[in-house]
Parts: sequence; C-alpha cells; structure tokens
Amino acid sequence: MSDGQTYDYDLFTIGAGSGGVRASRVAAKTGARVAVAEGQRLGGTCVNVGCVPKKLMVYASHYSEAFEESKGFGWSLNGAPSFDWATLIERKDAEILRLNGIYERLLRAAGVEIIRGWAKVVDAHTVEVATDDGPKRYTARHILIATGGKPTVADVEGAKTYGMVSDDVFTLKTMPKHITIVGAGYIAVEFAGVFNGLGAEVHLIYRGAHILKGFDDDVRAFVSDEMRKKGIHIHLNESVECIEKEGDRLACMLSHGNALKTDAVLYAIGRTPNVEGLGLEAVGVKMGQGGAIAVDDRYQTSVPSIWALGDVTDRVNLTPVAIAEAMVLVDQLFGDGDKVMDYSDIPTAVFSQPPMSTVGLTEAAARAAYDEVEIFTSEFRPMKHTLSESDERTFMKLIVDKQTDRVVGVHMVGADAPEIIQGLAVAMKCGATKAQFDATVGIHPTAAEEFVTMR
Ligand code: FAD
Ligand code: NDP
Repeated sequence: MSDGQTYDYDLFTIGAGSGGVRASRVAAKTGARVAVAEGQRLGGTCVNVGCVPKKLMVYASHYSEAFEESKGFGWSLNGAPSFDWATLIERKDAEILRLNGIYERLLRAAGVEIIRGWAKVVDAHTVEVATDDGPKRYTARHILIATGGKPTVADVEGAKTYGMVSDDVFTLKTMPKHITIVGAGYIAVEFAGVFNGLGAEVHLIYRGAHILKGFDDDVRAFVSDEMRKKGIHIHLNESVECIEKEGDRLACMLSHGNALKTDAVLYAIGRTPNVEGLGLEAVGVKMGQGGAIAVDDRYQTSVPSIWALGDVTDRVNLTPVAIAEAMVLVDQLFGDGDKVMDYSDIPTAVFSQPPMSTVGLTEAAARAAYDEVEIFTSEFRPMKHTLSESDERTFMKLIVDKQTDRVVGVHMVGADAPEIIQGLAVAMKCGATKAQFDATVGIHPTAAEEFVTMR
C-alpha cells in the first residue's frame, strides 16, 4: 500500500498493549519502518493491570483452600498459615517489571522504535507525542490506534471519591478485610474469588437476577452456587445508591434500604474505550456505539490511513483476540492481505473459583440457531475432593446440533476448566461431532475424560 509520499514511518502505532505490540513487532519483521508510542508501561492492560497480575492473585488466593484440603491427605500444619498482602504485591510487581523488559527487548529486536509519551492524531498521516522533551511530531503512511480501554467509573454519589476500579486493586497498600464489589461480569466474579480466598468477607452487588450475563444459564447458576458455598455473599437485584464515609470505613446505601458497612468498594461495571484526547473526531474518524472506534472487517476506520483494533473497537475484549486482529491487520498492510479474523467459537474463561470456561453457543443460543439440539450434562464431585472433604463440585455441558451431530457448545465449571476447554476449542474449530467425541479414548483418571463419555 503506497501513496507515493515520504513519511517518517510506514506504521505508527499508538498504544503498546496486547494488540499494539503484536502489530508493531510483526509489521517491523516484514521490513516496514515502525514506531510505537506508549504513555505508560509496555504491555498494556493485560500485562500491567489485567490478565497477568489477576491470574497471579488467583493463584495466591487458592492456597487457603489448598492448606485446608491438604489435611485430608495426611498433611498437618504447625499453626495457622498466614498471608502477607505486601509480599504478594511486591513479588507481583517484580514479575511485571520483568515482563515489561521482555516486551521492550522484543520490540527493539524487531526494529521497532519505542517513543515514550501520550500520543494524539494531528491529521490523517501525523501523530504528535507529548515526550519528556516536549511535543514531537511524526508522519506515517498508516496510523494504528490500539489504545485499549479503561474501567468505567460509576455515576453514583461517593463512587468517584471512595470507590476503586480494577486498576487500583493491584497497588493497594493493605488488603481490605471486608470488600463490596459492584457488578457480576468477568472482573467482579474473578476478584470476588480472589479476595474471598485471601480471607476477606466479600459482598457482590448485582443489579440483575443472575450473575455472568451472556454465559450459559446452567453455568451461571452453577458458578453462583459454588461462589456462595465458598462464603461469598451475592446480593441480586440490588444496587449501591451512594457511598458515604463512616470513620475509617465506608457505608454503601443499598437500593433495598439497607446500609452495608465495608472497608472498600470495587466497581467492576465494564470498560470504556480509550479515545479521550486522541483527536480522532477532529480528523474525521467515526465512532460507533459507546465511544468505540468504528472499523470495518479489515480494521480500517472512516479515515483510510487510520486503523484500529483491540479493546478500543469494543468487539471481543480479550487479549488473544487483540493479538489475532493484529496479525490480520499486518497481513492487510504489509502482506498478502488474504487473512481474515474468524470471530466464531472464541473460547474464553472466567477465573472464578472454581474456574469456568466455555466455547461455542449457550443452550439458549443453540436452541435459537438450530431446529433440534441435544444437551449432555454431567455434575460430579472431583476425585480429589473425596479425601480433601471440600464440597466443591464440577459441571460439564455439551450442546449438539441433532441434525449434523456437530458439537456446537462446550461448557465447564471446575478445576482446570480453562486448560481443558482450550483443547476442546480446537476440536470444535475442526467441526467435531458428538460421535467423534465418543470415539475418543479418555485419559483416566481425569475430570476431562467425562467429555468423551457423556451418553
Ligand atoms: P491494552 O492492552 O489496553 O493496551 C492499550 C495501551 O495503549 C495501554 O498500554 C495504554 O497505556 C496505551 N495508550 C492509551 N492511550 C494512549 C495514548 N493516547 N498514547 C499512548 N499510549 C496510549 N483478557 C484475557 O484474554 N484474559 C484475561 O484473563 C483477562 N483478564 C483481564 C483482567 C482485568 C482486570 C482486565 C481489566 C482485563 C482483562 N483482560 C483479559 C482483557 C485484556 O486485558 C484486554 O482485552 C487486552 O489488554 C486488550 O488489548 P489492547 O491492545 O486492545 O489494549
Ligand atoms: P463485564 O462487561 O464483563 O461486566 C460488567 C458488569 O457490570 C455486568 O454484570 C453488568 O451488568 C454490570 N454493570 C454494567 N453497568 C453497570 C452500572 N452502571 N451499574 C451497576 N452494574 C453495572 O465487564 P468487566 O468490567 O467485568 O470486564 C470488562 C471486560 O474485560 C470483560 O467483558 C472482558 O472482555 C474483559 N475481561 C476478561 C477476562 C478474562 O478473559 N478472564 C477477565 C477480566 C476482564 P449487566 O450484566 O446487567 O449488564
């Protein structure tokens, strides 16, 4: 794609997160001259305040259960185990610093110029970055906006002053002993499990009747039951009307009239695309719903030289999706241009406790899409818990299109669900039928073998 002009770069990426780093690196490897501007630390949300630190905290929070369960296998602890939040944060920070360094080395090795500072678009081919040495302008044949999203702040009295968002959790100096979490999506459910495992009293406040909207109804009910069994207080059809300070605690006034006294309030009510200050509207980039950048299936915006992908386009807001979109974009700009992104059957996991993972359709969506579907479910006590005495259970569900026998939905709640579903997602991508699941020999003794023995 050449327009006969001379530019400083072939590609200028704004945002060095999951999508921006991948697009910049791979583009540079094709021989393109690439720069990436980043206002914060390299790696974006996932590395710094998302997937990675969250998962490390999920691991940390499992130990309370593990210590307890070990007794059933003959272990004894001399005294009660104790947990130190400051140590976890310090060790998590060190790991993230290591990852920031890896990202920097990867970009430099590919020949990408890293420009530190907040960037904005000046015209269709010019970007200005507020560097430490003052504003600097760069021209580029293509500009990629990969600026991600930020936590949505609630429009409720006291929320901005006393509430926190997911970004804040990762730098908390002390762990709240009692926490109120608003929302019931990925982040709310994951942090409810984390704080509960670490010993806090957790109250989840959700405006609807069932948590985890959008997931299979049986799965939603099962996760909710398991969370409650572990001691998480789930308040349904409830909302926080305002937050007030009461001494060194907070009081959440609930819609049903009660006041909930708590140490911290975490809002996990979705994320907003990061477009503020980018100057996009002034150069004619059209916005879609909720302030997301509107793009076509090649990630081109309404300005032909400006492209956007990842969370800032608010489609499927997951790291592997931003990365896959980046691969398609680089192919469009500097390759054959024949790659397209397939958004069907994207597997996903909520790192709840136990974790939930899924690929394909929910039962409701399958019933709407196919004339007849067959449902296979299995619920059981995992073998480990026969001795551990934990009452945690596992749930699995297969949804099959009766006419073709194709498996169109796989769902699991239970230990290692995300690891198991990743493999089954490959099978689904290959169009596996129920007969092929049945013809597959199980691995014994595992929970996963249940997926090939459901009759
Ligand atoms: P980001 O990774 O957000 O990167 C955008 C970058 O752009 C940032 O570094 C930002 O500083 C920079 N930037 C913004 N504006 C400018 C500007 N004007 N100039 C310069 N730089 C700018 N996904 C999963 O798949 N699995 C998970 O387990 C998971 N867990 C998550 C947990 C949490 C708490 C959160 C918040 C998210 C989680 N996600 C998870 C989602 C995942 O982090 C995002 O989908 C992914 O990071 C999106 O990548 P991106 O490249 O679009 O944007
Ligand atoms: P989600 O969209 O997953 O959930 C938002 C929750 O907040 C929903 O329960 C929603 O209710 C509720 N809500 C929305 N607006 C309000 C409001 N004004 N007042 C009260 N409640 C409200 O967003 P998250 O913030 O949990 O996560 C953002 C995204 O980040 C996820 O969608 C996902 O794409 C990504 N992510 C992925 C993870 C993973 O892969 N494991 C982990 C964490 C994040 P309702 O359902 O009724 O709309």
